[in-house]
Amino acid sequence: MRQQIVAGNWKMNKSLEEGLELVKGVLDRLEQRPRGPVVFATPYPYLQSVAKMLKVRKGFHVAAQNCHHEEKGAFTGEVSVDMLASVGTEYVLIGHSERRQYFKETNEQLARKINLALAKGLLPIFCCGEPLAIRERGTHVGYVAKQLKASLFHLHEADFRKIVIAYEPIWAIGTGRTASTEQAQEMHAAIRVLVAKKYGKGVADDTSILYGGSCNAQNAPELFRQPDVDGGLIGGASLKAEDFVAIVNAMK
Ligand code: PEP
Repeated sequence: MRQQIVAGNWKMNKSLEEGLELVKGVLDRLEQRPRGPVVFATPYPYLQSVAKMLKVRKGFHVAAQNCHHEEKGAFTGEVSVDMLASVGTEYVLIGHSERRQYFKETNEQLARKINLALAKGLLPIFCCGEPLAIRERGTHVGYVAKQLKASLFHLHEADFRKIVIAYEPIWAIGTGRTASTEQAQEMHAAIRVLVAKKYGKGVADDTSILYGGSCNAQNAPELFRQPDVDGGLIGGASLKAEDFVAIVNAMK
């Protein structure tokens, strides 16, 4: 179902105590149920505690920032989708550009993560987006199309409907340089067209496409007003309760 979603990606930040304080700060400031799901993508060790905290409040969810592409076995230090599900994780980020860049995750590996997450009942937030050189060359739509085709378009319609897409231009992540509303809308509309070509207009109209990349309390309202922008995946600005709440409140 298409809905506005705001997800905060803490990355490798915060102690457990600081993280729980942040969640409390957000919950305390949001007395009403948010207009769309609010998701906290926390470090692995905090998932269970955050999930417990959120159990009593409707509209709030916990996400992992990654998962392994194998179901189980001799992969020292890795975390499986089953493990995530067993501690109350509901969503999982798959294909964040930092995973692609620093951990060399490939489109094919990401497809396997998507399959496993869906098989085990987790909702994937699939990240895609182009580097600066591709944007400057003007081939960004084709680049993102390739990412979607390689990691998502093998899915049957019923499974694809469970996917949330996050468009995150790499040049805008953590740089303070946001895509303009026109650039975001153009790419989101293009992604919707790609989904429509593969699965039909009904599915495309039902797909939530989030924007990520230096989204903050100031620019969120205008970005979220764009017809094809269905909320955001927020990094830096999700680390302060006040800022994150302002972004949550920018949902239409
Ligand atoms: C992200 O990491 O997904 C992100 C969008 O980061 P930032 O908001 O800090 O650019």
